[in-house]
Amino acid sequence: MSLLQVEDLAIQFGGVRAVDGVSFAVEPGEVFAIIGPNGAGKSTIFNLISRIYQPSQGRIRFDGRDITGLRAHEIAGLGIARTFQNIELFDHSTVLDNLLMGRHSHRSTNFVEDILFLPKVRRAERAHRERVEQVIEFLELEAYRNKMIAGLPYGVRKVVEIGRALAIGPRLILLDEPASGLSVEETREVAFWIEDMRRDMGLTVVMVEHDMSLVTRVCDRVLAVANGRPLALGSPAEVQANRDVKAAYLGTETAA
Ligand code: ADP
Ligand code: MG
Repeated sequence: MSLLQVEDLAIQFGGVRAVDGVSFAVEPGEVFAIIGPNGAGKSTIFNLISRIYQPSQGRIRFDGRDITGLRAHEIAGLGIARTFQNIELFDHSTVLDNLLMGRHSHRSTNFVEDILFLPKVRRAERAHRERVEQVIEFLELEAYRNKMIAGLPYGVRKVVEIGRALAIGPRLILLDEPASGLSVEETREVAFWIEDMRRDMGLTVVMVEHDMSLVTRVCDRVLAVANGRPLALGSPAEVQANRDVKAAYLGTETAA
């Protein structure tokens, strides 16, 4: 059974059909990419899956369960994490605190239990701290642990953004342009991490990315979209060779 199933998804903003009948399924352990020109609707697909926006049409299933009507924190609680194209961290907090803060999105304890500081709360707290330590080690962030986000180079903030998503211990991670603005070496690091996320963490990955060398290297399958609509679905080579995909990129700044 597919881990994520998106069926006939749509949303419009004013008169703009930002996503217009998009369907795809992602298998457990797959690394899947969504590509397309700027404004194609890629980030909006992530915003619909993570329930920042409510779809006007279509269904989303995760692990066989219909999650279309759930709220954002419930979706995170089921194990779907995401990063933002424009890094969304607390600039005046440390790396460690930013990673620890991810917890509020998937807490399994309630407010009263927190105040009473029940054993259950202490256990959840300890598990979360252990998880954050694993993420710091995994992403090699030890040197930055107590540094304020605002003072960090862009490439490091990009990695912390991935860490914030990993900190909830997800089964599925949605990466919105993980390599944008990164150097060739930094992009290579991101490729290693994505491969390790799959192999060592058992994660399923969906990423939006313009860097086709990264997509070709780490992704099993690719969905191309333009103007909110699906254009092609297949291996990276198949999708890149597709005539409709090539045509969609003509005259745009980001050539695939
Ligand atoms: P991509 O990530 O593929 O570059 P987006 O998903 O960000 O594209 O945007 C797709 C379209 O939807 C664009 O025309 C964008 O302006 C529009 N859009 C996205 N979010 C909103 C919003 N909150 N309000 C109005 N229009 C939006
Ligand atoms: Mg985008």
